[in-house]
Amino acid sequence: MKSTDFQRRVLNEIESRELLKQYEITQNQFDFAPNKKIAIDKSNQIGFPVVLKVVSEKIVHKSNYGGVKVGLKNIEEVANAFDQIMASAQQHGVALKDIDGVTVQEMVSGVEELLIGAKRDPVFGPIIVIGFGGVLVELMNDVSLGILPLSKFDIEQMLTGLKGYQLLTGYRGRDMADIPSFIKLIKRVEVMMLSENSIFELDLNPVIIHKNNEGCIVVDARIVIHV
Ligand code: ADP
Ligand code: MG
Repeated sequence: MKSTDFQRRVLNEIESRELLKQYEITQNQFDFAPNKKIAIDKSNQIGFPVVLKVVSEKIVHKSNYGGVKVGLKNIEEVANAFDQIMASAQQHGVALKDIDGVTVQEMVSGVEELLIGAKRDPVFGPIIVIGFGGVLVELMNDVSLGILPLSKFDIEQMLTGLKGYQLLTGYRGRDMADIPSFIKLIKRVEVMMLSENSIFELDLNPVIIHKNNEGCIVVDARIVIHV
């Protein structure tokens, strides 16, 4: 471990989302629930189907810990998912006292899952990476990188440079994705990186992109700050 690692802190999903709000980065509806009863109440408020996700300072990649349950259609499924998340985290070595609870979230579906990442490179300064989210990004490593500041032309080049770009433009009867709204989101992330020097790294994955004119929405966020 480098000595500088001690000066960084990974914000959890809730803390990361607080920062996104300040920069008008669109995100799905969510709420925090410290226990099962409240998780059920929040699910009723948000409306089914919902997603439950573990909140713990010991857990960064939630699905690696069995900590994400999607498509929960009713109270029973929420109650079961809550129990499963708690059990699974403990099986992965996280003590119950280190689990704060869960977030209850609006379930979102769209044309594709994308990602926006950013970090500060020692040579290039702030950079932004975009690509396809989820498993595709791991399998194909389909990402484009840009050095800030980014012009609209730069962003368009980053997008068209993705191998999967056609998946966003109506390929084989798919819906045309709302590319202009994704470009706006990249610009907001750029503003955030240029104005918040304390942000070392940022990972919005996935960003769910809807069909044309319906926008795009961040459903997971992880921000690393200097402290
Ligand atoms: P992590 O990256 O920490 O494992 P995520 O919050 O990204 O956890 O959830 C894992 C996957 O679950 C996402 O890549 C996405 O496919 C799906 N997912 C997460 N939240 C939602 C949501 N609100 N609506 C629909 N799908 C979701
Ligand atoms: Mg994620």
